[in-house]
Amino acid sequence: MTQAASHSGGCQCGAVRFRVTGVLADSSICHCRMCQKAFGAYYAPLISTRGAQLEWTRGATKTFRSSNFATRGFCGDCGTPLTYEAPDGVAIAAGAFDDPAAVPPTVQFGTEGKLAFVDHLHTLPGHRTEEDAEAAPFVLEIVSYQHPDHDTAAWPPETRR
Ligand SMILES: [Zn+2]
Ligand SMILES: [Zn+2]
Repeated sequence: MTQAASHSGGCQCGAVRFRVTGVLADSSICHCRMCQKAFGAYYAPLISTRGAQLEWTRGATKTFRSSNFATRGFCGDCGTPLTYEAPDGVAIAAGAFDDPAAVPPTVQFGTEGKLAFVDHLHTLPGHRTEEDAEAAPFVLEIVSYQHPDHDTAAWPPETRR
């Protein structure tokens, strides 16, 4: 996998934004219990920035030291998990990238913590959001306050504060 160029991203509210320039060659998911907890998820998708250049273009993460070796960074305003920082480098939460499809995962870690049903998620019935409209009509009138998937000139947006 070779993506030179630059990859931008940030948290859900947009208070923290980053850009990674260079080749992102190490995209993974981690099933370990610490990653499950840190992401509030069944596993954590992470893309290592090792060998590339990471810069924070807006705001800064708050951090939690989750072990003697690792620190987890997140947005203090909206809570989005953003980093896993260890002695061998910083990895960014894959879903926080503006284009998560650009760097698909190639390996799984922490498989001792893997939840058994994870292997069967793709077999569950699936529904698009608009299909929920009958039971929950508000879904048709949702106005997103999520930061768009690109860098923006000003923050916070005038429309909200
Ligand atoms: Zn945020
Ligand atoms: Zn982990």
